[in-house]
Amino acid sequence: MSIDTEFDLIRHYFNQQRFQRQDVVLGIGDDAAILSVPADHQLVVTTDTSLAGVHFLEIADPHAIAYKSLASNLSDLAAMGATPTWCSLALTLPSIDEQWLARFCDGLFSLANQYDLQLIGGDTTKGPLSITFTLHGVVPTGKALRRDGASVGDYIYVTGHLGDSAAGLTHILSNTSEYSPEATSLIAAHYYPTPRIEAGILLRDLASAALDISDGLIADLGHILKASQLGARIDVHDLPISECLLKTAENQEAAKVLALTSGEEYELCFTLPPEKKAKTEATLMHSAIPFSCIGRLTDEKGIVLMNKSKVLNWELSGWDHFKESKHD
Ligand code: ADP
Ligand code: MG
Repeated sequence: MSIDTEFDLIRHYFNQQRFQRQDVVLGIGDDAAILSVPADHQLVVTTDTSLAGVHFLEIADPHAIAYKSLASNLSDLAAMGATPTWCSLALTLPSIDEQWLARFCDGLFSLANQYDLQLIGGDTTKGPLSITFTLHGVVPTGKALRRDGASVGDYIYVTGHLGDSAAGLTHILSNTSEYSPEATSLIAAHYYPTPRIEAGILLRDLASAALDISDGLIADLGHILKASQLGARIDVHDLPISECLLKTAENQEAAKVLALTSGEEYELCFTLPPEKKAKTEATLMHSAIPFSCIGRLTDEKGIVLMNKSKVLNWELSGWDHFKESKHD
């Protein structure tokens, strides 16, 4: 079938999700969607744009582009402890490429269906490729995880491994056509991150603060420290580094630097009051969610990096679009 109009395109590609929610009174097709927010819950809303040439290579597989763009938004809901519900998509396309759209929708709906997230609307325009998702989630009233609740003495945790996404990007940009099994796995970590929705929900009654790692651990932890007016000590010995990263990094120190600075990890960084430590660890272990305790909050200013009891003087910074990007 040939797609001639915007209306056909929306109907054929975007209004075809298998998974449908009961709380969507009116979805795609009218001027706006109508949604029922469950009683005693608050609505959590987040928006992120992914741009060709900034957040992904234009030539990347559209399946991966859709997946990663949506995963980065789901990760923001995870960091708030929210349960995903609805999403809208503002899509700007240079042209109508049906093969591209089919792959894009496969990537989008495979992830959306996994998290019971329904596409309920959006906007489609012509121009340089740009993808903006707005995601909605719900959280029991007062239970959202925020950045400003941490206290001195709280333990600092992260989920999963750190550093794989940045290492994967290096392999993608290396222009090789044959990748080692380790490189293949790191590339998958870059394109197909796992949003930590389940962890966020479990942490609702436990964590004192939380966020997701999108700009690098050091930069993102800095946001918790700023919001909570605290400092931190991180032991680099405790950073969770994957076998693949260890095998492919120049040396252990290079792997740790990557773990501290790699953005787009979409793992959660959260803090726990000492009295919640044992219960939280048991809860996460029971759900097979990988986690590591990497440090503690202090009343010193800034972040002190340690290797066991030795203070390190590594100079690190995270990714900042306005400082380092040429595309701002
Ligand atoms: P209007 O001009 O009234 O805003 P549109 O033609 O932009 O209507 O959109 C028609 C319907 O299709 C709306 O329900 C809108 O939310 C939906 N829609 C448009 N683009 C997308 C998209 N990329 N993904 C999902 N739904 C979309
Ligand atoms: Mg519109």
